[in-house]
Amino acid sequence: MDRIELKALGKINLGLDVLGRRENGYHDVRMVMQTVYLYDQITIKKRRRSGIGIETNLYYLPVNENNLAYRAAKLLMDEFRIEDGISIRLNKHIPVAAGMAGGSSNAAAVLFGMNRIFGLGLTMEELMKRGVTLGADVPYCIMRGTVLAEGIGEVLTPLAPMPKCFVLLAKPPVAVSTKLVYEKLDSQEIEKHPDIDGIIEGLEEQSLAKITASMGNVLERVTVLEYPVIDKIKNTMKTAGALNAMMSGSGPTVFGIFEDKNRARAAAQKIKETQLTKQVYVVNVHNAGRK
Ligand code: ATP
Repeated sequence: MDRIELKALGKINLGLDVLGRRENGYHDVRMVMQTVYLYDQITIKKRRRSGIGIETNLYYLPVNENNLAYRAAKLLMDEFRIEDGISIRLNKHIPVAAGMAGGSSNAAAVLFGMNRIFGLGLTMEELMKRGVTLGADVPYCIMRGTVLAEGIGEVLTPLAPMPKCFVLLAKPPVAVSTKLVYEKLDSQEIEKHPDIDGIIEGLEEQSLAKITASMGNVLERVTVLEYPVIDKIKNTMKTAGALNAMMSGSGPTVFGIFEDKNRARAAAQKIKETQLTKQVYVVNVHNAGRK
């Protein structure tokens, strides 16, 4: 096999709680992760010239070792002494620095794809163990689906799948640094922890009403203080019929959960008209795991 094409899917957090901070700066979290069908297209090709070449449609992304896709490829090439060169093409659609794990999902796809084209024979667990050295969300991006993530995000328990629904994603035109958001959170008291168990129960009961009523994200307050546009988008989504709306990860992407596709589309139109952002998508949740 000389070439492989992959879809690197994004995620939202149905719930995000922070339990504490470790000595090394990492945080203990309890998150319900959900894969959504918004993806970057990734092509990995063997090439004659040695080394790793990265090409992308976004001029502002690094194409060296600062790109997570590069780091993922390098990790396996070093460990397995792969002599061939490779080129990686990233066609990015997942918003960048947006709380949707775009970079982590690219790294996950590259680990998965390199394992295939070089016949390394690594299991999913073995890929995930390597993935966590690149980023806390990488193991989840390898696993995909509806998952409880604990530890620093790498202790994963699959949950009952998210019932069918439509997700409206809206990314306001601001970039958020995950690191800074967590630092600001450390200097504050967490007043209210989200009901992660309520989300899990809602998933078990397949009750979209209970899942959405239990949604919560402790990072939201931190990011909203800096970017009030997040609250405006949330309110627009709720007024337009979302069961609930919330910020994903450290933001600034906001998602709304809808039962009806046409309502989700009408809400997307509303957000564009109010000029809060032009970057909006209506997508399905994605529950199939990796094969
Ligand atoms: P998370 O949800 O895990 O916090 P995020 O959506 O906040 O992720 P990313 O989109 O993964 O953030 O990217 C954050 C930073 O990482 C960007 O500033 C970008 O320059 C860098 N980066 C490195 N590699 C990639 C990649 N392959 N795709 C996107 N960003 C990348």
